Amino acid sequence: MHKEIWTIGRILQWTEQYFQSKEMDSPRLDGEVLLSHVLGKDRIYLYTHYDQPLNQEELDAFRPLVQQRAKGYSVASITGEKDFMGLTFAVNDKVLIPRPDTETLVEYILNTYPKNSSLRILDVCTGPGTILLSLLHYLPSSSGVGVDISADALSLAKKNAESFGQENRIRFMESDMFSALAGGQEQFDLIVSNPPYIRTGDAKTLTQDVLNEPHIALFGGADGLDFYRILAEGCSDYLKTKGRIAFEVGYDQADAVENLLQDTNHYSNIQFLADLGGHNRVVTAICEG
Ligand code: GLN
Repeated sequence: MHKEIWTIGRILQWTEQYFQSKEMDSPRLDGEVLLSHVLGKDRIYLYTHYDQPLNQEELDAFRPLVQQRAKGYSVASITGEKDFMGLTFAVNDKVLIPRPDTETLVEYILNTYPKNSSLRILDVCTGPGTILLSLLHYLPSSSGVGVDISADALSLAKKNAESFGQENRIRFMESDMFSALAGGQEQFDLIVSNPPYIRTGDAKTLTQDVLNEPHIALFGGADGLDFYRILAEGCSDYLKTKGRIAFEVGYDQADAVENLLQDTNHYSNIQFLADLGGHNRVVTAICEG
């Protein structure tokens, strides 16, 4: 009997159709990322080796990953890695997976400060180190502190810092927001944060991929603003005068966060930055002390 030969090209087509039948958002890309992971190659390799047959071991490794994806686990949580700002972050199901939206914040900071700046940066709710480590990668004379309430997140953040060669420029602390920074001993040039900001009541609108992420990293209370209240009040104690804050916000939260900042009378030059989808995704301001 004729035995079917699964080439890279055929298996990609099959997987794309299968994912499409499950109404997944990016069926082609997901199949490519999972197959690249199994083969230990980049995605270009798949196209330069389109007719290469897969051996049984490779097929056996690929199938369960396709099944997991079809059950609603994100590609990043299956492969244990996610590209963000040109860096490959280790991730797992204990942290918020880095999102392209968050690159808006990082790119803004990189466009605002020259490459040789020696900033002291604090990242509140650092997760796997997403914002802080990517800033430090492109600002080689800067250094910083990352805080998070989750010890699991911090152990991944440390692993990422080591893999990017930044362990000497960075310190991680287990801390519920500012609590471990006791009394503002250090004042920073820049405070960044992508705190949990989804409204509790919006849980039903989230896809299964997102719901599989830790809820502690997603939900920001009834109006989604709980952590911005703490940031708005707290940042001025931990910033130098004329230091900057930059927060990621939910697609419809920029005005509300601006109001919280204005109410404190500590900030000037409040600005919004739009993400690729045209939503105001970042709120930034200068601290007047
Ligand atoms: N942007 C994320 C999402 O909607 C949420 C991130 C967050 O709460 N900080 O999936």
